[in-house]
Amino acid sequence: MKTFKAIVTEEKGGEYISSVKERNIDDLPEGEVLINVKYSSLNFKDALSSSGNKGVTRNYPHTPGVDAAGVVEHSSDPKFVQGEEVIVTGYDLGMNTSGGFAEYIRVPSGWVVEKPAGISLKEAMIYGTAGFTSALSVDKLLKHGVTPDKGKVLVTGATGGVGSVAVAMLAKLGFSVTGVTGKADKADFLKSLGADEVISREDAQDTSKRPMLKGVYAGVVDTVGGDILATALKSTMYGGAVTTCGLTQSPELNTTVFPFILRGISLLGVDSVELPINVKASAWRRVATDLNVSEIGKLAHEITLNELPAYFEKILAGKVSGRIVVKI
Ligand code: NDP
Repeated sequence: MKTFKAIVTEEKGGEYISSVKERNIDDLPEGEVLINVKYSSLNFKDALSSSGNKGVTRNYPHTPGVDAAGVVEHSSDPKFVQGEEVIVTGYDLGMNTSGGFAEYIRVPSGWVVEKPAGISLKEAMIYGTAGFTSALSVDKLLKHGVTPDKGKVLVTGATGGVGSVAVAMLAKLGFSVTGVTGKADKADFLKSLGADEVISREDAQDTSKRPMLKGVYAGVVDTVGGDILATALKSTMYGGAVTTCGLTQSPELNTTVFPFILRGISLLGVDSVELPINVKASAWRRVATDLNVSEIGKLAHEITLNELPAYFEKILAGKVSGRIVVKI
C-alpha cells in the first residue's frame, strides 16, 4: 500500500495538535483525479481548520489545506491526463475533504483547473486562495467602473494574504493605493508593493458614530469586516464600490443605509470557494495574465510541511505578512 506524508490534525484531550504523519493513498476520499501535490499555501481558513473550528472542519483526524498545485498522477476523467499541471482551490478541499498539506490529494474532476501558462505551480500557490480572492475583488471593482482616474482606493488588512496581493495588483493597474495595517513596522513593505499611503487601523476606524464621513476613496477592497468596513463604507465617494471577503476584525457590520442611499455606493460580496469551475478557470487565467504581478515572488515566504504547525499559530495571531507558500 503506497504511503505519503501529510499534516494530520488530531484532537487530543480537547486540544487540536497538528504534525507530519504517514498516510495511505487508499485512505484518500473517492474522486476522479489523483494529484501529486508540489506546492500548497497557508490561508487563514487552514489555521481555523487546524484549531478545531467546526464551522470549517467537522471531523478529525484531518489534513487541512484549501489550496494545492501539482501534477496529475492518475485521472479516470479523460479531461485530465497524467503529468498535466493543475490547480485545486476551494470547494471542500481541506475543509471536510483531505487537503493540500499532503503529498497527495484525490478530488472530483469538477474541482480541478488546468494551470494556466504564464505562472508556475509555485507562483500559483503564492497567489493561492488569498491571491485568487484579491483578483476576484479587484475584478469586481473594475467591473463596477472603479478606474484609477476616479480616485484612490483603500485596502484593509493590507499586509495579510488577500490584502498584500490586492495592494500589488491595484498598484500595477495604476491605482493610487492606501493600505490599512495594524503593523506599523510594515509600512515600507506595503510601499515596496506599490502602496502610496499607509494608515493605522485606528485611523481607519471612525468612533464618532457619524452616519457619513468625507468621501475619500473611489473603491475599497475590505478583508477584515467590522468597524473598519463600516468606516470604509462611510468614506467611499459618490458611486463607488466596496468589496467584502473577510472577517479578521469581525463578522459584524454596524452600518446605516446612508452610504447606499445618499452616495449610491455598492457593497460587493466576494466568494472564492463555490464559484462555478468555468468561472474559476477563467479567473485563474486572468491571474496569469492581466492581473499577474511580476514581483509576486517578493510576497512569498517558503516553508515546509514540518514548519506549518507553528505558522497556524502565527496567522491566527495576525502575525503573518504576505503569502506563505508550502513546498511539499
Ligand atoms: P491573513 O491572516 O493573511 O490576513 C488578514 C489580515 O487582517 C492580517 O494580516 C491583518 O493585517 C488584519 N487583521 C488581523 N486581525 C485584525 C483585527 N483584529 N482587526 C483588523 N485587522 C486585522 O488572512 P487572509 O488575507 O488569508 O484572509 C483575510 C480574510 O479573508 C479572512 O477572514 C479569510 O477567512 C477571508 N477570506 C475569504 C475568502 C472568500 O472567498 N470570501 C477567500 C480568502 C480569504 P494588518 O496587520 O495589515 O492590519
